Amino acid sequence: MEVSVVEGLMQDYELSLQHVLWRLERLHGKSEVVTKREQGVHRMTNADLVPRINRLAGALKRLGVKPGDRVATLAFNNYRHLELYYAVPCMGAVLHTLNLRLFPQHLEFIINDAQDKVLFVDQPLVGLLKPLAGKIPSIEKIVLMTDGAPAAEGHGLGEMLDYETLLNAESEDYPWPKLSERMAGAMCYTSGTTGNPKGVVYSHRSQFIHTMGVLQKDNLAISETDSVLPIVPMFHANSWGLPYAIGMSGAKCIFPDRWMGDAKVICELADQEGATILAGVPTIWIGTVAYMKETGKRLPKVHTVVCGGSAIPRALMESMDALGLRMLHAWGMTETSPLGSVARPRAGTKPEDELNARLTQGVIVPAVEVRICDAATGAELPWDGVAFGEIQVRGPWIARAYYNGYDPDKLTEDGWFRTGDVAKITPEGYIQIVDRTKDVIKSGGEWISSVELENAIMAHPKIMEAAVIGLAHPKWDERPVAFAVPKPEFKGQVTQEEVIEFLKDKVAKWWLPDEIRFIDEVPKTSVGKFDKKVLRAGAVPIKENAAPAARK
Ligand code: AMP
Repeated sequence: MEVSVVEGLMQDYELSLQHVLWRLERLHGKSEVVTKREQGVHRMTNADLVPRINRLAGALKRLGVKPGDRVATLAFNNYRHLELYYAVPCMGAVLHTLNLRLFPQHLEFIINDAQDKVLFVDQPLVGLLKPLAGKIPSIEKIVLMTDGAPAAEGHGLGEMLDYETLLNAESEDYPWPKLSERMAGAMCYTSGTTGNPKGVVYSHRSQFIHTMGVLQKDNLAISETDSVLPIVPMFHANSWGLPYAIGMSGAKCIFPDRWMGDAKVICELADQEGATILAGVPTIWIGTVAYMKETGKRLPKVHTVVCGGSAIPRALMESMDALGLRMLHAWGMTETSPLGSVARPRAGTKPEDELNARLTQGVIVPAVEVRICDAATGAELPWDGVAFGEIQVRGPWIARAYYNGYDPDKLTEDGWFRTGDVAKITPEGYIQIVDRTKDVIKSGGEWISSVELENAIMAHPKIMEAAVIGLAHPKWDERPVAFAVPKPEFKGQVTQEEVIEFLKDKVAKWWLPDEIRFIDEVPKTSVGKFDKKVLRAGAVPIKENAAPAARK
């Protein structure tokens, strides 16, 4: 039988970031972009921003940037960085945001790997480039972004162009080229916790669809009536896609610039500018809770605190709830653009089950599909809330390869992306991350979730942060050892025994850590996650003969 295929008769409209720019110009001219400054704030509207974006595109062209060229940024969350977020991809080039917390050798590797042509740097960050002098030959021009202060002396990088001077020389109109939605718009490198960082390359199409996804009501639900304060860096997975989601919706944008880790500044900025949505990793909120408790400061206008990057400890969510700050837990990774799942209690959830639902990594977002697979056999596992395996995902904003072809095995033979996260999925579809594949602790042939143990320890009233790693053990293969940071007021006043006692009715007996080692601070990665690699490298072995605290 002959099959006749009927073609859809819709337009082949390219899904590009130029559309977001069009909305900024035509519909959202009045919305503000506010950036924290040393004194006060810098305030502008999208009607001020768009002509600057046009001028910047003209300047890029004059600097010799052509479609496909990589343009690097080493910058904080501020309006100039936002201008680059639009001008670079919309003129056909590729925005490459550099992580300013990386070691110089990683920055050097990344710039050379991406073959960046022009580099834009915020004035306070010029010093980071000093060790790279003479080592990044692909960079033809460096542009300094400053409010007037000159670049630090002796950076060894030759002449730097001035951002504002470049913009002033250009016209307010730019003839934006016609783009294909398959073209790359941006690239981000993974944080390189194992080996060298790898480049993830986003297309206009993936960023467009991701933006629509972020906005959905069951996802981040950002509307024109919101004021959004992204505390997640613009170099980390495109600030979770927030800049474009803000632009698409016409929300007000509030940037903290370099004061991202300062709870006082964040709370004051959020308060003064009427923020309704905040977004950042758990460590930011741990600091915020402490500050708000101490000062009595409250943020009644904030209705959502988006939190992802690592699991939210139960104690943190409870403290935030008590302060009137409702957390919205999300999971994702650089390779997933990054939105993967969002934890909103599903329809029909009983009030007493809501907190548990919000503490999961949530339900996979529309457009993305998920499955969990057995590490050894690769077989797909049931969604029964018991079986756990590697999360694999597929969808229009999920990476299919890394730049320059690194790690080709990240995709399964049937085209799913291996995330390296281990999870269960409940019958209702909630994803519950158990661990990273490399962090699960194997004790006597059984698995222990370092994440669950950490959460249990961080619920102790005297503990601020805790990271758990598996250390080699002659009998059990590996045993958990916890590194705990007491709250400042309990420094030196909390014992291993009392923490173990506290854990006894919360985790299985054989999960109890062999040791609790008290430290001043948990080492963090460049994107603010517990750096277990550093902990492992510096950890003294488990004392063989000492009776573990757990089994006393
Ligand atoms: P990155 O690419 O640096 O954003 O790191 C992505 C990784 O962070 C994921 O693969 C997870 O291991 C971890 N991660 C992100 N969000 C969460 C979350 N909500 N809960 C637990 N782990 C998370």
